[in-house]
This record gives sequence, structure tokens and C-alpha cells, in this order.
Amino acid sequence: MSTKAFGNFAPEKPLELLQIQRREVTDIDVEIEILYCGICHSDLHTARNEWMGAKYPVVPGHEIVGKVTNVGSKVTKFKVGDTAAVGCMVDSCRTCEQCQCGNEQYCDEGAVYTYNSNDKHLNTQTYGGYSEKIVVDEAFTLKVPENLDLAAAAPLLCAGITTYSPLKHWNAGPGKTVGVVGIGGLGHMAIKIAKAMGAKVVVFTTSLSKVEDAKRLGADDVVLSTDLDEMQKHFKTINLIIDAVSAPHDINMFLKLLKVDGTLVLVGAPMEPLPVVSFSLIGGRKSFAGSLIGGIAETQEMLDFCGEHNIVSDIELINIQYINEAYERMLKGDVKYRFVIDMATLKNN
Ligand code: NAP
Ligand code: ZN
Ligand code: ZN
Repeated sequence: MSTKAFGNFAPEKPLELLQIQRREVTDIDVEIEILYCGICHSDLHTARNEWMGAKYPVVPGHEIVGKVTNVGSKVTKFKVGDTAAVGCMVDSCRTCEQCQCGNEQYCDEGAVYTYNSNDKHLNTQTYGGYSEKIVVDEAFTLKVPENLDLAAAAPLLCAGITTYSPLKHWNAGPGKTVGVVGIGGLGHMAIKIAKAMGAKVVVFTTSLSKVEDAKRLGADDVVLSTDLDEMQKHFKTINLIIDAVSAPHDINMFLKLLKVDGTLVLVGAPMEPLPVVSFSLIGGRKSFAGSLIGGIAETQEMLDFCGEHNIVSDIELINIQYINEAYERMLKGDVKYRFVIDMATLKNN
């Protein structure tokens, strides 16, 4: 079926209205009319081909919440009219060791991402959530807890799971101090989730305007990371750092914040290498690690956790026609803290 979408045809081109094809619903598929779609920095990295390999047109968007408009005959999770969500993946091989243990994001064959992967059904790339509708295998759909505002819950589908997964894996909780570096979409979710897990949270930001605000989000302490005297006061005090910075930056300064046996986990994905000085690690048996989104069962677990703790994103709701300005503002760190597109505005185009 033909569907309206917003995407771009080349790295330097703005996003504009276009038509894409969605497959007809098979017996295991759910068709979702998209109500809200969050804007992740990965959308911008991909649309502008910063990670290389982008297939055009790129239709980004992997923080999707919507209403079920059709279901296949074998679908059990949803009926027409229900709320459904889709995150960063729409398929994987389902048989490899990683898929078998719920780590679909680390599928040996490569997960099928919501956008810019090869579509297994149609002879195109996959197209994301900046569109009217999406058709997804029910195994890759998620349920949003009823108490959460739908627009503000959309960013949980990427920013939420990408920070929940490493926080859980590295045992954030009571008695632990978690550092969060870079307070954008991911970073602000890391603060809220780490706090709800019971950890002490210390935030490191380059933006003066976020210093007070980070406390409102739940931070116990906030440090302007450009102030080296302030940074020094926190050396050797942190167990786990979640680094959610979208651009090149000095990792060694943040490794100094770790206690012995501490871990710095990169979730931010700038394309440029981040040089690590050996002594930043050897001195305190420190680990430098990375983490990619989270599995499907873990994403549902995160949504349920956010439901229990009443956690959603702080959002600025925008019209789809504002998308290119939103990208420019995101590049300047000028969003508190996630843009979410009201997809009803696509109908006006
Ligand atoms: P975002 O909302 O744009 O936030 C990025 C934050 O990084 C900014 O708010 C800013 O925080 C900081 N920052 C930006 N430029 C900087 C610079 N030059 N020097 C120092 N700090 C800078 O982005 P996001 O959507 O949260 O995504 C963050 C990164 O994670 C992106 O690279 C994205 O692709 C990646 N990502 C990874 C995964 C994964 O699975 N690992 C999933 C989703 C996204 P302050 O103002 O506080 O300094
Ligand atoms: Zn994302
Ligand atoms: Zn697999």
C-alpha cells in the first residue's frame, strides 16, 4: 500500500514529503497508524549519511507509537483500536545464539532495523516512523503501559531502552554512583531511569542552561564538564558512566572519574574515533565498553518499568513540517530533551 512519509534523497538534502510502499498485512503482521514519532540523533546521523552506507530515500524514525488499524489472522497481542509501539528493530534471524537469548540487537546475521536496513518482504530498504503507517511482525511490536502519555512515551522506544539496557547490565542501583555524560534525548532518560533504579546520579554537561534543569530531572549533582576544577573534584568517585554524546569529545577526562573496576559505556555514536590513553584504563582496572539499544523482551521490560515508575520523556511536540529546523536545533543541543512529531500533521501535506 502507498503511504505518505517524510524523508530525504541525499545527505545534503532536507527532508520532504514523499510516498513509500508498505507491504499488505500477512497473517502475523500488525498494521499501525502512527500517532507519534520521536526524533533520535541517529535519525540525523543516517539522513546525512554520517555513518556511511545510507540508502536513499532515507525515511527515519524508530520511536513509534500508534493505533492498530489491521491485524493478521494469527496475531494474538493486539486487536484493531489498540495502542502499539515499535522501536529500533522490525526483524532478526531469530535462530542464532543472540536471537535465542533475547539479544536480537546483536543478531549474528544483523538485525533488520526499522529504517535503512534491507526489507525482507519488499525489494527496498526499510522505512521508519516519519510516515502515516507501518506494517510490522507482531513479534517486534510492543505494548505501552496505559498510564503513560503516548507522545511522551514514544522516546522510550529508543532513548529509553538504549539507556535502560546498560544500566541494568552493569547493575546500576542502590549504593552505586552513575555518571551521565551529555544531556540530550538519551542522557535525560539515563538520569530518570538510573534514579528510579536507586542509584546516585551525577550529570556532566557542556550546557550551562542544563545545570539547574538536570536536578529537576533527578540528578543528585551536576557538573559543567568544561570546568576542570569541578571535574577534578569528582575524579575516582563513579562506578558506571553512560556516555551519550553525539559528537567527538575527550573520553580520557571521563575515564578519570571512574573508581577502580568502574566502567564507561559508550552509547553515543559519533563516527570519528575516540582515542583512549592506555593509562586511563590500566591505573584502576577500568573498562571501556559499548551498548546497542536492547532486545525486544528487554524493551517491553523497560516500558513496564517506566509504567511502574511513571517515567516518560520531556518532549517538545512538533509538526512534521518543522522537521528540518528541529534537526538544526538538535545539532546545537537546543532541545529539552526530545522532539516528538505529531504525525497527524502529515495529513495536512
Ligand atoms: P541528542 O539529543 O542530540 O544529545 C546529544 C548530547 O550530546 C547533547 O545534548 C549534548 O549534551 C552532547 N553534545 C553534543 N555535541 C557535543 C560536543 N561537541 N561536545 C560535547 N558534548 C556534546 O542525541 P541523542 O538522540 O540523545 O543521541 C546521542 C547519541 O547516541 C547519538 O550519537 C546517537 O546516534 C546515539 N545513539 C546510540 C544508540 C545505541 O544503541 N547505542 C541508540 C540511540 C542513539 P550537553 O548539552 O549536556 O553537553
Ligand atoms: Zn535512536
Ligand atoms: Zn539472529
